[in-house]
Amino acid sequence: MSVSVIPRRRQVLQAGAVGLAVLATGCASVSSSAKPRVVVVGGGWGGLGAVRGLLAAGGADVTLVEPNEGFMSCPLSAHFIAGFQPASDFQRSYARIDQLGARRVRERVTGIDRAKREVVTTTQRLGYDFLVLSPGVEYMEDGIQGYAEARAQLPVGFRAFEQMAVRQQVDQFLAQGGNFVISAPKPPYRCPPAPYERAFLIAEQMKQRGTKGKIILIDANPNPMPLPIAKPILNGMKSLYAAQIEYMPEVDIRAVDMGRRQLATSAGDIPFAHANLILPMRAPAMIRQAGLGERWAAVKLPSFQSQADERVYVIGDSQGTPLPKSGHVAFGSGQQVAEAILGRITGKAAAPSAGAVDLPLGICWASVTHKEAININVTSSVAPGEAPRLKFTVDPEHNARSGAAATSWGNGMWKAMLG
Ligand SMILES: Cc1cc2nc3c(=O)[nH]c(=O)nc-3n(C[C@H](O)[C@H](O)[C@H](O)COP(=O)(O)OP(=O)(O)OC[C@H]3O[C@@H](n4cnc5c(N)ncnc54)[C@H](O)[C@@H]3O)c2cc1C
Repeated sequence: MSVSVIPRRRQVLQAGAVGLAVLATGCASVSSSAKPRVVVVGGGWGGLGAVRGLLAAGGADVTLVEPNEGFMSCPLSAHFIAGFQPASDFQRSYARIDQLGARRVRERVTGIDRAKREVVTTTQRLGYDFLVLSPGVEYMEDGIQGYAEARAQLPVGFRAFEQMAVRQQVDQFLAQGGNFVISAPKPPYRCPPAPYERAFLIAEQMKQRGTKGKIILIDANPNPMPLPIAKPILNGMKSLYAAQIEYMPEVDIRAVDMGRRQLATSAGDIPFAHANLILPMRAPAMIRQAGLGERWAAVKLPSFQSQADERVYVIGDSQGTPLPKSGHVAFGSGQQVAEAILGRITGKAAAPSAGAVDLPLGICWASVTHKEAININVTSSVAPGEAPRLKFTVDPEHNARSGAAATSWGNGMWKAMLG
């Protein structure tokens, strides 16, 4: 399936005549002497959606704050982790957004001074008129005793570039065998199908290489997540990997002992040769420290505007709505927020709708083999004063058509972000 990336939003942005005068709707006006300053924090899926939307229309002075020199995709990177594809397939340069005129600050944000409207980095303070935050997730280490001390030996690999360390572990396991523990936490966490996908592709390599040992998949949930994909995931596990994967549902990990290479769990002690513990997640500390939310940022829908500050938008996985924590949603919400900011800049912001409004589409892939995947589409809408409604459409079984569609989806998204 080929995917066109939010064409409606893009067409609207490109068609918009954006002047410099500022008549911000519903907020204090912004300096009219220069282009309004939009600072975007995080050059991942959400941040790049916002940056590309803002740059396509012009009319704003755009700064992207991102510590990494380039981009690496988490979606589809299980094919790198399991050794099917090189890392370079999932990496892209930021050169295109530099060419398009964004100022790129290669630093980490250490704080947000909302009173002064400044983002604080390791060496400077960046003033903003509008702020878009898409810093992704951080791991919650406290739930597993001993994890913090063992962090360097137990990379999670659910953030860009951490995949390299997990790949090293997988290579060792495939060569040496033994028990490889992979865990799945309780939602909400980034891309719920991803732990199962990772186990599947490593299991496929075990079969190809004749690795002696097993993957123990410890799931905090009673079924694979999200629930609409439980059946095709369990089918894939049973039909293809019964000899490679031992599935343990409803088991909590309590402690890790790296000296003895042993996990203490609600089902007893489990020895391991290698472990990839996928921890519970939350928004990065800057969200809490800036008073924008607790575990996740509190935002209004459909705008993704912070509930605490109308000049701040939080998109992607850091925001705490029931939308799936997916790159497709993050990119779409970035484009939508760019359009809203440009509307506020020009004084042409769309009036709030009295009825239900569509929210950004979610598209996820759970690869079951290197060539076959399960496609998960999530459409959603929200009506004023109501909770968002989500509708899942899921392949009944893994198939080669979705395997090929996942690859073209990835290529299309990375091109929209950085091509
Ligand atoms: C294994 C796996 C498979 C996945 N598969 C899919 C899929 O098939 N489809 C799908 O749609 N989604 C998928 N996802 C989910 C997708 O990766 C996330 O939903 C998406 O990355 C969220 O975008 P984001 O902008 O919120 O965060 P990210 O893309 O993680 O971007 C956050 C950026 O913020 C930067 N940052 C963090 N802290 C700071 C700071 N203090 N200062 C400055 N910058 C900072 C980081 O360096 C990073 O570049 C998958 C995820 C994983 C882990």
